[in-house]
Amino acid sequence: MTQRVLLRPIGLSRLLAPTQRHCRPFSTVLDTPVHATAQPAPPPPSSTPPAAFHDAVQATAPRNNWTRDEVADIYNTPLIELTYAAATVHRRFHSPAAIQMCTLMNIKTGGCSEDCSYCAQSSRYDTGLKATKMVNVESVLEAARIAKANGSSRFCMGAAWRDMRGRKTNLRNVKEMVKGVRALGMEACVTLGMIDAEQAKELKTAGLTAYNHNLDTSREHYPSVITTRTYDERLATIKNVRDAGINVCTGGILGLGEKSKDHVGLIHTVATLPSHPESFPVNALVPIKGTPLGESQAISFDAVLRTIATARLVLPATIIRLAAGRHTMREEKQMMCFMAGANAVFTGEKMLTTACNGWEEDKAMFDKWGLRPMESHETLQGQEEAVEKAEVDSSLPEAPGSGTQPASLTV
Ligand code: SF4
Repeated sequence: MTQRVLLRPIGLSRLLAPTQRHCRPFSTVLDTPVHATAQPAPPPPSSTPPAAFHDAVQATAPRNNWTRDEVADIYNTPLIELTYAAATVHRRFHSPAAIQMCTLMNIKTGGCSEDCSYCAQSSRYDTGLKATKMVNVESVLEAARIAKANGSSRFCMGAAWRDMRGRKTNLRNVKEMVKGVRALGMEACVTLGMIDAEQAKELKTAGLTAYNHNLDTSREHYPSVITTRTYDERLATIKNVRDAGINVCTGGILGLGEKSKDHVGLIHTVATLPSHPESFPVNALVPIKGTPLGESQAISFDAVLRTIATARLVLPATIIRLAAGRHTMREEKQMMCFMAGANAVFTGEKMLTTACNGWEEDKAMFDKWGLRPMESHETLQGQEEAVEKAEVDSSLPEAPGSGTQPASLTV
């Protein structure tokens, strides 16, 4: 009985049309090699990779004059080539084993006046989330100490506010939090909604490492997701952050009902900023019941992977952050993202209002796959040193396993 299941049924090939004869019936083992001449005609050889793809793979420094068509060409490269190229560039600019571990704490939950269609914290939707006041400084620092003890090098603090107008006391408290986190030897990041140039300077003076303000999606798709503030207002906050000398963290959410051209649009916008962001988070929507996008279909994994790989190629020195939705991915999928250039995660007990992979789980995964937490000095080195690494690597003769670009790369 077992043999009948495992062996190719005798005579089956006679029942099949000639083009079907060499297909392997499911769960059988072929007892003879499949002869190359018996295979269906192979697909035509893939056309020459577009010039933009070639340029991206050869890069030794970021460039911010990408055209949207170029980004689209890269995004639409066959996934097997795209991920390999992204892994190659990733190794030129970063250590492939180093993953930045960040912990994100909600310092003020819910009650936000904005209408972001995906957000549990908008006061416009009935999501069952209870709005709270801002937490005190000491409880934030206690959470940061725990995060540090568990291996996180960056502590991020999020508040559900539209902007910081008229929030002088809140800003003062946030600055104390930033100072306290920095005094622990951790990087500090905040996301507080829109800020003006003066507020950005104050946060810089307090020692803030990075400010998160996501663009969420492409300029074209944005109005279908948020109507209470414009894309340009988001870009203005990003400019204020950049001008103050704070690292910019800006990325998007996949699964907002957008098309792949919107992934291209988002990456293109970020890649043509005056300087590339230090960090580009890629979130997969976690649908929240009660929000307009609460019943959305999950984004396909290949779209997540393609977005990460494209971002890695177009933003070679940037940290690509596998953010919300990671807890829904099996370990193998996460690893594919890391191989394609993702090099930061959120880890801890919770990520704002959604679930998060825990430290123990991440440690076990890191041990198994040879990953390690990125040291703070590695991330603080910023883009300039990443570029230096790429320049040095590209001038070195290639050594086996050195992590420099494989000579066989077919572009
Ligand atoms: S994403 Fe931020 S700005 Fe938008 S509703 Fe949620 S908390 Fe408010």
